[in-house]
Amino acid sequence: ESRLKEKRALVTGGARGIGAAVVENLAAEGADVTFTYATSHAAAERLVKRVQETGGRASAVAVDSSDRDQLRRLVEDVSSSAGLDIVVANAGGGTIKPLAELDDAAIDRMIDVNVRGTVDLIRFASPHLRPGGRVITIGSASAHYMPDDGTSVYGMTKAAVAGLVQGLAREFGPRQITVNNVQPGPVNTDANPADGPVSDRLRSLIPIGRFGRVGEVASLVTYLASDAATLVNGASIDVDGGYSS
Ligand code: NDP
Repeated sequence: ESRLKEKRALVTGGARGIGAAVVENLAAEGADVTFTYATSHAAAERLVKRVQETGGRASAVAVDSSDRDQLRRLVEDVSSSAGLDIVVANAGGGTIKPLAELDDAAIDRMIDVNVRGTVDLIRFASPHLRPGGRVITIGSASAHYMPDDGTSVYGMTKAAVAGLVQGLAREFGPRQITVNNVQPGPVNTDANPADGPVSDRLRSLIPIGRFGRVGEVASLVTYLASDAATLVNGASIDVDGGYSS
């Protein structure tokens, strides 16, 4: 299959975890993918190599999504010659602690990367997006489901992303560009390992009894990026094994 032949994609936070699976899936469908990472140079290089060895196209750039000027320059560079078709705002993360235990840096980081970085990525990419374009954010089921303490600020940033997507669906729709938000539940990554300190508690809340796999999130992203998803716009879609049901 090559559902995304001739498409140019930009994915933030693609060196590891969910973002890396998104990069691999989009490239496997024929897209030409540029992805960013914060510091994991070696992992990024390995991913580029892996994609290229299987006949795909990928390149990596170190750009922190909280650095507005770097992000602006990157988007200009990537889109300047040929425009953009698919933008995936995946870079993000959070510190899971009760409000009183979060320090200034942790709060600022969540807001700067998850919220401002997502808004910036999309607004810088917007003028370069071709008709039929796709904007896909990686939010979280924590936007609307917080069974335990410690998720308030992280959940707030992901609720902000869900709100952004609804507004942008209206703004971008007339250009035949859709905007959607993928909301994973617990997914096995370095940020949330399936054998971590809180994993048993999380697993007990997931009806299917296990953490998600990164490929199970990436396959939804690839669907949303494809021509099969023309009518899906402004949606926040849970991909969580029923965690937030
Ligand atoms: P990981 O920490 O495993 O991987 C994150 C990737 O994004 C890394 O490659 C990292 O770069 C990169 N990254 C992080 N911050 C930045 C930044 N400021 N600028 C550029 N790149 C950045 O995270 P996950 O794969 O688990 O999470 C990906 C997304 O999915 C996040 O938005 C997260 O909130 C969301 N999510 C994850 C869930 C989970 O259970 N795993 C559940 C719900 C949502 P580097 O390698 O250089 O550190």
